[in-house]
This record gives sequence, C-alpha cells and structure tokens, in this order.
Amino acid sequence: MNRPAELDVSGCADTSEMGEDADVGSPREACGVFGVYSPGNQVAHMTFDGLYALQHRGQESAGMAVSDAGGVVVVKDMGLVANVFNEYKLAGLQGFLSIGHTRYSTTGSSSWHNAQPVYRVTAPNPERDAPVEFALGHNGNLTNTEALAAAAGMLPGTATSDSDVITELLVRHLDSHPKSDLLTALIQVLPELEGAFSLVLCDAERLYAVRDPHGFRPLGLGRLDGGWVVASETPALDIVGAHFVRELDPGELLVVDADGPQTLRPWPASAIDPKLCLFEFVYLARPDSRLYGQELHGARLRMGELLAGQAPVDADMVMGVPDSGLPAAEGYARASGIRYGHGLVKNRYIGRTFIVPDQAQRAHGVRRKLNPLRSAIAGKKLIVVDDSIVRGTTTRAMVKMLREAGAAEVHLRISSPPYRWPCFYGLDTGTRSELIAANLTVAEIEEYLGADSLAYLRLEALEEATGAVGAGFCDACLTGVYPTAVPVKFAGAPKADELLV
Ligand code: SF4
Repeated sequence: MNRPAELDVSGCADTSEMGEDADVGSPREACGVFGVYSPGNQVAHMTFDGLYALQHRGQESAGMAVSDAGGVVVVKDMGLVANVFNEYKLAGLQGFLSIGHTRYSTTGSSSWHNAQPVYRVTAPNPERDAPVEFALGHNGNLTNTEALAAAAGMLPGTATSDSDVITELLVRHLDSHPKSDLLTALIQVLPELEGAFSLVLCDAERLYAVRDPHGFRPLGLGRLDGGWVVASETPALDIVGAHFVRELDPGELLVVDADGPQTLRPWPASAIDPKLCLFEFVYLARPDSRLYGQELHGARLRMGELLAGQAPVDADMVMGVPDSGLPAAEGYARASGIRYGHGLVKNRYIGRTFIVPDQAQRAHGVRRKLNPLRSAIAGKKLIVVDDSIVRGTTTRAMVKMLREAGAAEVHLRISSPPYRWPCFYGLDTGTRSELIAANLTVAEIEEYLGADSLAYLRLEALEEATGAVGAGFCDACLTGVYPTAVPVKFAGAPKADELLV
C-alpha cells in the first residue's frame, strides 16, 4: 500500500485534455478492448459490434487489427466506432483473428498516432524466417512509464503513450532474440510493467489477453460457436452471441490458438492482489455488465437504497442525473418511499468534442447535455441522485438550472464517497488541486454547489452494495491508499474524517 507524502505533480498522467463526460460531471473513461479468434469465420464485423458495445469506454478514437494468418492489417482513426468503420472498410478486413480498441486518452495526446491498436513489426533479420508483426490494445494506465522508457534508453519523446512503451519493449525483445516469439516476449516484458493494464494483442496466428496482477480493469472471456472472444465488458460478448465463460484472473496471460485457450501466469503468486476499480461498479461499466458475478444495475440500485437509509430527507420527488445516476435514484426512491420521477432530459446526440473545455465551457456544457422538465420539478422539493462529483463545476450549473426551472429545494445525494485523490490507473480525473472534495469540506461543497443539502454514500456501504465484499477493490481515489507506487507525491495524508463522511 502506498500513500503519497509530498507534492510533486511533474510525473502526473497527462491531464491537459480533461473535460467532462457525456454523463455530466462524472470522471472520464479510459478505453475498451475486444478480441476474437474464430477459425473459418470473417471476424471484422464481429469486432465492429464488440467495439460498438464498448463505445462508452472511449469515444476519441477506434480501431481494429485483423489477421488471416498471412499478416496483420490495422485500421484506426479518430472518432466514434461508427465514424471510423463502414461496410467498405470492413469488407477489406479479411481474417479469422482480430483485436479492437476504443480510446479515451489518459496519457498521450488525443491524436491519430495514439489511436489503437498499436502496430509493430520486427526488423529484418537473417536468423528469423519472417518478421513478427503484432498489434496491441490497452485499457488502463502504467505508473512506471517514464522509468521503463529511461531504463530501455528510449529517447524522450520517442514514445508518446504508455502503450507505445509496451510495444517498444516487446519489439526490442523480439529484435534482440530472433528465436523468440510474441508469447516469449510477453512473458519477459509483462513483469516489468506496473499499474493498470488489461491488454489484447494479436500476431498473425494467435490472440493474447492479459490482466495486470491487480486486475484494475475488467476483462472477460466468452465462448463462441467455433471460437473465443475477450472483451472489457460482458455486453460486448452478448452482442456477438458469445457465452460468458469467466473473468480473466488478475495476473493471467491467456493465449488462444488452434489448440484453444491456454493460461499462463507470468507473475509470482505473491504479486497477485485483486484490486478491481470500484468506479467500474459506480459508473464506468455499463449497467448490463457483470463483474465479480454481479450485474451492475442491481449494485447501483442497492447503492441508492443504502444511501436513502444513510441520508434521508423529506422531499416530493427523487430524480437521477442521466444516465449513470438513474439506477441509484430508483433505489433511493424504492427505499425511501418517495415518488421517483424524471426531472432532466438528456440530449442523446452529444458526442465527445475535441475542444479542450475551460471551466466556463464545462458549465455551459450542462445546458448542451441536460434540460430540465419544468412541469415535473416546479415547486417541488427534489432529491437529486448522481454517481460522483469530481470538480463540482457541472453539478453547480445543474443545481442552478434546476432552481431556475422552479425547484423549491435541491438535496444532492451522491452514490459514492467524496472523490479526493487522483486516479493513476486509467480514469481521467485531474490533479488533486482540481478535485473539489480534496479542497473543501462537505459543508463547503454544499454551499459552493448551492444545494439545500449534500450527502455522500459511505465507503463501507458502497462496498456492501457491490455484492462482492472481500473480492478486492481499488478505492485509492476515495482513501488516498494506492495499491501500487504512483508517479506523484502529495502534500499530506488524508485526515481521518475525510474517509468517513
Ligand atoms: S483510483 Fe479510483 S478510479 Fe482509479 S482505479 Fe482506483 S478506484 Fe478506480
């Protein structure tokens, strides 16, 4: 366990493009990964469908790599999955083996170069019959990128993302060991990586899937009629008609080839320590996803139910902030007996913009994304449930909007504890100075937001709501206790009362 002690933000993950997600005010996602191995079938359309189901995990760029055993072809571009691929492009991607990726940048800029899959090929070598070419897709964020790059003697600026560093290490191993293959290179390189990484890779003939020893990000295995699928979330298995088999274990390297799936474990047992991101349950993953054996919609309902018991208030209506606040609002209403209703309408056609938003733009962004249902809220005492508050800017604008629409009272209820520490494992939340709960007390936040009351779900209740107590969760952004060393030192440890609000 690591709790940073001094302030030094120089090594922080790139936060230059932080903004707000389509779910207003929530942290932004990292990435979605997908892979399929299905001999005798053309799998590009399947990968398209899988990526479509993972679109919520990254909307900046999308791509896939496809192999027909003769070579790996990569198509990737900026934009949504449906913008990047069309029938013409998919028809040209022939092969039985594919990986795909949807990206939101947590390190590296939002540019075509950093779109994934990352493709690499070994240098010509007379000792090798043919070059090894491979592609990689990464969900997560390495915490030792700079150290890895420095140790490998990579010139500053030659790798623009942590995923670049992984592929560079792999290709260097392959180039210096001409008898080696991608599997051997992975077994050598993976133990050097620190932080969060759920990876999919393919070479010309095999599919590989990797989950880091903490299992920060999800990755599941599905069985197809005549093949195998891996995906960040189970809805991507459902959409291609695959049956969920199991989640990959933390520290598992899965290889799929003509002999079926085979598990290798490149890390010692002592390195395995499950720490699935708690925010996958709160917000990140789709409500129809299953993690640790639980469907997330049910877990989010329970969060709302527990929140109602913990922070009751007299009101006329319970409403959620679309979309991710809705299940917890339903649970709050069910447990409190207060009527559930809709008070905000979401514009479903807001995509991700590539404009760097400033605070004023974020506040205005609320009006682009949400509009109040005046007839439903005018004169009412409202309980408004959301999943989290990060900077507070958009929540403040939303409270103002509700009051202007005639709300008599606005009581905010948040289905997670205060978000006080930055994430280094693939969620883009900003530096500590930008996190409102790191700088203000709950009473001060309530005043800043202009709410009549504000309450957060306690950490113990959140874990109880997951239905997977004891399975192993990361809660570093809530407690300041990081499961790995992180590349930033902070001033001061959290105060005791910061942990239980
Ligand atoms: S720090 Fe928070 S957001 Fe990041 S992996 Fe841990 S629980 Fe998830």
